[in-house]
This record gives sequence, C-alpha cells and structure tokens, in this order.
Amino acid sequence: MSEDYHAMWKSLGLDLEAHDALLNVLGQAYIDIYLAQKNRPESMKYFDFVMSEVHGLRIKELVDGQAQGRPIIGSFCVFVPEELVLAVNGILVGLCAGAEFAPELAEQVLPRNLCALIKGAFGFAMAKVCPYLAAADLIVGENTCDGKKKSYEIFQNHTKAFYAMDMPQTKSEHGKALLKSEFQKFARKLEAISGRNITVDNLRRGIEMVNAKRHAMYRLAQLRNSLPVPISGLDALLINQIFFYDDPARFTESVNKVCDELEQRIAHGDGVHNSSMPRILMSGCPMAVPNWKLPAIVESTGAVIVGEESCVGERGTQFSTAVDGNSVESLLDNIVDRYFKVDCAIFTPNPTRLEHILDMTNKYNADGVIHYNLQFCGPYQVESGPVETALKDAGIPLLRIDTDYSTQDTEQIRTRVEAFIEQIAKR
Ligand code: SF4
Ligand code: SF4
Repeated sequence: MSEDYHAMWKSLGLDLEAHDALLNVLGQAYIDIYLAQKNRPESMKYFDFVMSEVHGLRIKELVDGQAQGRPIIGSFCVFVPEELVLAVNGILVGLCAGAEFAPELAEQVLPRNLCALIKGAFGFAMAKVCPYLAAADLIVGENTCDGKKKSYEIFQNHTKAFYAMDMPQTKSEHGKALLKSEFQKFARKLEAISGRNITVDNLRRGIEMVNAKRHAMYRLAQLRNSLPVPISGLDALLINQIFFYDDPARFTESVNKVCDELEQRIAHGDGVHNSSMPRILMSGCPMAVPNWKLPAIVESTGAVIVGEESCVGERGTQFSTAVDGNSVESLLDNIVDRYFKVDCAIFTPNPTRLEHILDMTNKYNADGVIHYNLQFCGPYQVESGPVETALKDAGIPLLRIDTDYSTQDTEQIRTRVEAFIEQIAKR
C-alpha cells in the first residue's frame, strides 16, 4: 500500500488488529495465486495496483467523494441499478464477501447451514473489517433468495442505514411492474439522501457510463474465445470482481487497455496457456473477491477457464440499457427492461439461464462446464440438475462442485477436477 491508512480505518470504526490480520492473509493469497502466474498481460498491473489499494486508496477516494457530497451506496446484488446511483452523483460499491472471516461471530446470529457468501458478509461486518461497509451511507439489501432476505432482517442491526428492495420472483408482467415500482422507490430514496433530482441528462449519463463499463467487459469476454486464450481465467475473474469496486470511468479505460493488449497477443498467436489445454466454462454462484479457490485449482490442473456464467461474470455484465427516451420515466423503463433480463436462479421458471449457458459454451468453445455451487444455496443447487441434463443432451460434460470458503476440501476438489480434466482431454 502506498500510504499508512490506519488513521482512516480507525476513523471508520474498523478493528485495526483484525483488519491487519485480514490484509496479511489477502496479500499472501494474492501473491500465491495471482502474482505467481506466468506470462500475464502487462496491463494487468493496473488491476494488481487496485487490489493492493483495495482497502487503501480506493477507500480514501470514497471518503473524499463523501466529503464532497457524493453518497456511498453499498450493494449485495447485480439487481441494484448503478445507473440510478450515478445519476445522483453517488458511488456504488459491492459488499459481497468472498472470504470466510470470523465465522464464529456470524454463527452467533445465523444458522450454520447458510451459504458462505451470506455468512462471510456477516463475519466481515461483525468483526469490523470491511471499510466499504463502514464507509457506506446506505446499504441496499434486495429480497432475492430466502437466505439473503431473512438474514437482512438481522444484518440491518450492523449498518448505519439499511434499505430493503423487494424483488420479483417470476418473469411475468406482474413481476416487471414490481421491479419498476421498486426502482422508482429506490430513485426517490437516492434523491432524498443525495439532495439531487434525477433528470433526463444525469440519468442518461449514468446509463452511458454503465453501458461503457459493460461494453468493455463484453469486449474482454469475446477475446477469450481465441486459441490460444490470451488471458487466464483467474485474471479475467479478477477484472470481473473489480467491476464492483472501482471508479467506473477509470475501470472502463483500464479494461479497454487490457483488450488492446490482448488483441496484439492474438495477432501474434501469444496465449497464456498451451492451445491444446481443455477449455472450461464456470457457471453458478457468484465468486466475490477474494474467492479464487476453485479457479486456482482448475487452472493449476492443466485447463483454462474461458468464461464465467455468474453474476461476477457475464450474467451480471451482459445486456446494455437503451439510451433513447426523453423523460426520466422512459429511461427508467429502459433500465427496468435491461435488469429484468438478468437470469438469476431466484426466478421461477428460469429457462434463459440454461440457454445462456449453452450459448456461452458454444461461443467460447468450452470443452466442459464446472457448475459451482455454494453449499446451502438452494436456487443454484437445484438448477444445477437441469443444467447438467441440458449439457448432457448437447454432449458437453459437466462437473458439479459444492463447496464453501474454507480450504479443508481443497485437495478433494483438486482430485475431482483433475479427473474431470483428464476425461475431457481424452475426448
Ligand atoms: S445470484 Fe441472484 S441474488 Fe446473487 S447477486 Fe446474482 S442476481 Fe443477485
Ligand atoms: S449464493 Fe445462493 S444462497 Fe447465497 S446469497 Fe446467492 S442466491 Fe442466496
């Protein structure tokens, strides 16, 4: 880190000792998993820098922005529309925790059999080690899966200001009307806390900024269908994870720089891995930073990850929002149209997710799919069955991995992944 930020962390109310311990573990994991990779694009240095400053400079930027009147909004889900937050000159940050921290604290208020993502968020909050949570002016909790919506009832006791957003469960007209009314309500809330009105101009600017960010991610995704692959799955995942934290304009510019470099690599036939390596599509639950366990195993067993069908991946970044419309209402309708297409497993039925997985498998020439389930995540665990059937019908092998954030099952997963990769390699 470029500076000593202990005074800032203290002013945010963090437990400095616990926070130092967390940073040490994270820093070491980053060295072991990311910096140990060979032949990375030069332009990934920006993302290495972002990670080295993820609790430092970026938090300082948030605190400085807040001092200038920019509200900080924390979110746990890709259904919280960044376009609206940007329209009121706010900053949206992701709060999903991708690591286990102080599970004993989380389990004081939650049952043990809840997904690691929810328990991780509680552990970070209760141990006072998350500066994003501490800096946020408003935490948005969306009523998606049962685990989240019930645990938010307790989580709000650990936040300064909590806002519940209701979510539809079906892709019906009624569901769409509910999403629209929730986005309208959220827009009013943002206007109230920022003291700014949402106008056609600022909302259109917000939409364009988020579209640019998603477009850069789309460009990056397309470059991964090359042979050999010009970027590792780990690095692409990292970019997808940083999508939720970084300044949007700077992030977009940095992703486009990576894409420029990857285009050069492709032109010269350079890849990060051997072109005969099995190509894997990851699908399933979101992998929030620093959840790198499974991708690190996959890419250390002679395979390369070519896509993520995940909210930290293409499920979250696909689809742009239309910018046509001359009223706030019509632009908001465009936003609702875009978000209503997100095929999270909380929807019933959810056929477009199956179509998207098959489409990604074809688009990125995947030889196999690994379906990543967080233990106790009902929606994705149940959907993994139909996903397996659909892929089997299409002749694509699938491996289902159920895990959590602990490292206890690492060797067991490695054995299963190795066997899967070997089976694919023989085909
Ligand atoms: S999986 Fe569903 S609930 Fe989770 S972040 Fe994605 S859209 Fe939100
Ligand atoms: S991973 Fe599954 S159980 Fe956990 S928060 Fe997301 S949808 Fe809910």
